[in-house]
Amino acid sequence: MGAALEIRNLHVSVEGQPILKGVNLVVKQGEIHALMGPNGSGKSTLANTLMGHPAYEVTAGQIIFDGVDIVELETDERSRMGLFLAFQYPVAVPGVTVANFLRNAINARRKAQNPEDKGIPIPEFRKLLLQKMELLQMDPSFGGRYLNDGFSGGEKKRAEILQMAMLEPRIAIMDETDSGLDIDALRVVAEGVNRLRGPNLGVLVITHYQRILNYIKPEFVHIMMDGQIVESGGPDLALHLEEHGYVWLREKQANGDA
Ligand code: ADP
Ligand code: MG
Repeated sequence: MGAALEIRNLHVSVEGQPILKGVNLVVKQGEIHALMGPNGSGKSTLANTLMGHPAYEVTAGQIIFDGVDIVELETDERSRMGLFLAFQYPVAVPGVTVANFLRNAINARRKAQNPEDKGIPIPEFRKLLLQKMELLQMDPSFGGRYLNDGFSGGEKKRAEILQMAMLEPRIAIMDETDSGLDIDALRVVAEGVNRLRGPNLGVLVITHYQRILNYIKPEFVHIMMDGQIVESGGPDLALHLEEHGYVWLREKQANGDA
């Protein structure tokens, strides 16, 4: 049976301020979910909380992954269990190539699982990297680029998608860049997810970009407003949103029948 990420009645505060107010969401291996919602609704707060960022305090609720409550677990422990969180390594690393970074990430995981591990042999690593780059239709020269050094939004996402392909997570959470509507970045994420999708991968794509369906075909769409998921549905929900915006949901909320 596949693993699932189950978010149950999750309440999260940042600097004592309640931001998430009872989020419920289940993402299973093999499923593609999109989480949408206006700016400031709490989407990135959810992503940061799932990743285990220390500034995000879980005040109530649970995050169950593969049957285990992971709220108290460190980021790397979550990662080792097969949860992938984009933005895990957002910093520029001068002098470290994409390939070296990925090899370190794989070796850290292997060492955590077995302290005796000597690391992935370089020929094996190269083969795996080329295989994944081919799958993602990436130019092999990308592996030789210095990580995040002058990367565009799209290139940062390309590095993240490649990292995801290499680590083969069970559930991945992709948050959009916070730099507004970066269509290039969204396209990279969408194409990557489309190429990697399959029965072993569950994905939660977080975006406020309403035309996401032009690039990716999620089976489930959720809308977050004011720290709660107020609507869930299929791809038609995103289409409805594209046409009508968030106003109808605000009205529905105000009328108390959401
Ligand atoms: P979204 O990603 O949906 O645009 P966010 O999760 O970034 O929304 O923000 C939700 C609310 O939480 C906003 O009011 C924002 O100001 C606040 N917030 C999020 N992260 C922090 C933080 N690290 N420090 C202070 N406030 C934050
Ligand atoms: Mg955000």
